[in-house]
Amino acid sequence: MELRVQLKVCEGCGCLWYRAQSNDGVYCHACKSKLREFPAPESRKRRGRRPARGPALRAWVTAEEAGGAR
Ligand SMILES: [Zn+2]
Repeated sequence: MELRVQLKVCEGCGCLWYRAQSNDGVYCHACKSKLREFPAPESRKRRGRRPARGPALRAWVTAEEAGGAR
């Protein structure tokens, strides 16, 4: 039996790793186990984003609220 592997560049840390053909991941084993402890990158980004975090953004929100109220 032949084991087919592909040389891949990990999208997590950029290291080179061998991927078995049956495996469709893009992360090396170290990153994969690391990612298992965290939620998906998308949900992490969304959670880290704060609404109205700067004066300019706050002014924009206030203007929008004022425009909608009147
Ligand atoms: Zn990696």
